[in-house]
Amino acid sequence: MASHDAGPRGSDPFAETDDQTALRALARDVAERDLAPHARHWDETEEFPEGSWDALRKAELFGITIAERYGGMGMGDVEAAIVLEELARADVSSAILAQLIYNGPPRAIQHLGSDAMRERWLPLAASGEALFCIGISESEAGSAVTQMRARLTPDGDGYRLQGYKNYVTGGHKARCCLVWCRFPGSEGARGIGAVLVDLESEGVTVAGTHVKMGLRGTSEAELAFDDVYVGPEDVLLAGDSTNSSAFKTLISHINHERCGNAAMCLGAAQGSLEYALGYMNDRVIGGRPIAELQGLQWKVADMATQLEGARLLLARALRLAGPDGTPPPLETAMAKTAANLAAKFVCDEAIQLLGGYGYSREYPVERAYRDIRGLCIGAGTVEIQRNFIGSQLVHGATPVGASWRNPLG
Ligand SMILES: Cc1cc2nc3c(=O)[nH]c(=O)nc-3n(C[C@H](O)[C@H](O)[C@H](O)COP(=O)(O)OP(=O)(O)OC[C@H]3O[C@@H](n4cnc5c(N)ncnc54)[C@H](O)[C@@H]3O)c2cc1C
Repeated sequence: MASHDAGPRGSDPFAETDDQTALRALARDVAERDLAPHARHWDETEEFPEGSWDALRKAELFGITIAERYGGMGMGDVEAAIVLEELARADVSSAILAQLIYNGPPRAIQHLGSDAMRERWLPLAASGEALFCIGISESEAGSAVTQMRARLTPDGDGYRLQGYKNYVTGGHKARCCLVWCRFPGSEGARGIGAVLVDLESEGVTVAGTHVKMGLRGTSEAELAFDDVYVGPEDVLLAGDSTNSSAFKTLISHINHERCGNAAMCLGAAQGSLEYALGYMNDRVIGGRPIAELQGLQWKVADMATQLEGARLLLARALRLAGPDGTPPPLETAMAKTAANLAAKFVCDEAIQLLGGYGYSREYPVERAYRDIRGLCIGAGTVEIQRNFIGSQLVHGATPVGASWRNPLG
């Protein structure tokens, strides 16, 4: 890939640079050649997509957001979204492997971690030698994250971790987990911080995996931490029981993951729309392709309009992050909501356009629907995004670049 950046072209404010276009082409090539042919297999068997992992590794696609000094390419959220969109267009289960590296713990380590932590973990992430996972949710603390019980108690210079995390994507295969937990004295949001746990440590158990509707290649694990030693060097962000600033930093960092989630929704929906368009032109009923039926053309119009609307919102959130920043919360929440809902609508309509075949597991659109359904829940549900957007607006916020004025602002 050329290092020369030609800058935006034409009058499209979101036009890709030459490097970004080349990256998209590379990701599409890998997705179509190495992911798409096996996507159904991973789904049917619920096997971890080892072949996809190997393909992404071989194409050196794991390192794109990791700094060059740790073996990566030092790119940002825009490039991460480009690759995630292309991979999810073929298979969302496989795209999630890249999402965990781009927008999961390695990104947090890069932005918030110590040099020693970066030296230890980032080369493993960039090269695809190790998978990373994130343990936030617990059975009684999903949306209500500040109800979490995972807790550290002091032990010499370090701590002991006691906790049970559920729905940890890739937790049964990962080497390292970023665990959100309470530091001594913590209550509510105060004192919540995060530590890195080597999953080969004594006291860590994979208690099980969830049996799911979609995203069946990448299981979500239940991880038990029973008195696991956490050294001072493994503290990513210490919680201070007198305030919630560490918790707020962690929450804002989730905006990377939310943008990646939105990008995967756009990719899966794009793949389904393209598939439906091809099918409509091939499927002949009463002597003419169903693509000629205006009632179905209206469906296509609504699908494409929702998809493109969400794409523009995501483009704004991503570009506001800048090359090394974090996507802003309001614009990210809007982008995730729009992409989740657009994907749900588009994939559902794609099934409808294929008729009975759309409902068959032999065609890819029903898998895309089942896959994106999980993305509407992960990384903060649609309802939680709406809570945040609504509460911001009624208290005077406006999205960046909006020409309307909030009378409270
Ligand atoms: C595919 C997938 C992958 C995931 N990966 C991870 C992961 O890697 N790591 C991790 O830690 N977690 C992960 N999760 C867990 C995910 O973050 C939680 O499922 C999510 O936050 C919702 O929590 P919950 O399941 O406890 O639902 P609940 O919080 O119990 O919510 C139930 C319903 O009530 C709604 N609701 C809750 N509170 C409110 C409110 N205040 N206002 C309006 N509606 C509300 C929710 O939107 C939802 O519809 C994953 C989940 C899925 C589905």
